[in-house]
Amino acid sequence: MNDLLYRLNRRATAYLLRNEQIISPQRKIVTFTFDDAPSSAFKNGGDILINHGIAGTFYLSLSFLKGQTNSNSYFNINDLRTCISQGHELGCHTYNHLYFKDANNYNQILGDIRKNQISLEESGLGVKFENFAYPFGAQTYNAKKVVSGFYNTCRGIYYGENLKKGINVGKTDLNSLLAINLYEESNQLSNIYLLLEDFRKYGGWLIFYTHDVQEKYSQYGCSPAFFESVLIKCIDLGLEVMNIKSALAELKKDWSQ
Ligand SMILES: [Zn+2]
Repeated sequence: MNDLLYRLNRRATAYLLRNEQIISPQRKIVTFTFDDAPSSAFKNGGDILINHGIAGTFYLSLSFLKGQTNSNSYFNINDLRTCISQGHELGCHTYNHLYFKDANNYNQILGDIRKNQISLEESGLGVKFENFAYPFGAQTYNAKKVVSGFYNTCRGIYYGENLKKGINVGKTDLNSLLAINLYEESNQLSNIYLLLEDFRKYGGWLIFYTHDVQEKYSQYGCSPAFFESVLIKCIDLGLEVMNIKSALAELKKDWSQ
């Protein structure tokens, strides 16, 4: 679909297919997530979290698993085994990393989502996807309709400049959660620290996402030192850090009252 149609579709979809809940400002939950995910996310990002006793969420496109045809391999089955044994969560990110602006056919999306689930089942890892992240953060009506039928939460991306607006607080659509990037090239550590200090005052659920975590990071990733600094700041501020699945379980306690 062209840019204008996509923008209209996306804007309208924000008001539709909502799974609305109130996230209390009393909550101060931070979640670290990884998209795709490059091997270094598991080896460095996952290890750093676990060294601090914290679990993250890895949103996977299983076409990136080593051994799949017609695909770049980003990670192998041992990365996934280690990841699960460390207590991290695996989330769905479509099988083929679909960009819904261009791949917006309902049945195509449905088939691709099912393929990711079936691939995970066939891997014999004994876990299933419960949560989802939109590749590139791209949302359309068809995509939201399919994925919201499968998953407890669907995470997007916050695109704006004012990071405070990227926090999930108050009335929140669980089918379109906001998330803030940890891209070292474009997002300064000092800005993230300021955000976290504000967050401690104003509360809610703050979700970070990144891709690779390595010394020579891409424009979509960060170094291990950057990643760990953000995590330590969260811990020092007394914020609760947990993965998507645990955060949802925690927040549900508020919603059931
Ligand atoms: Zn992605």
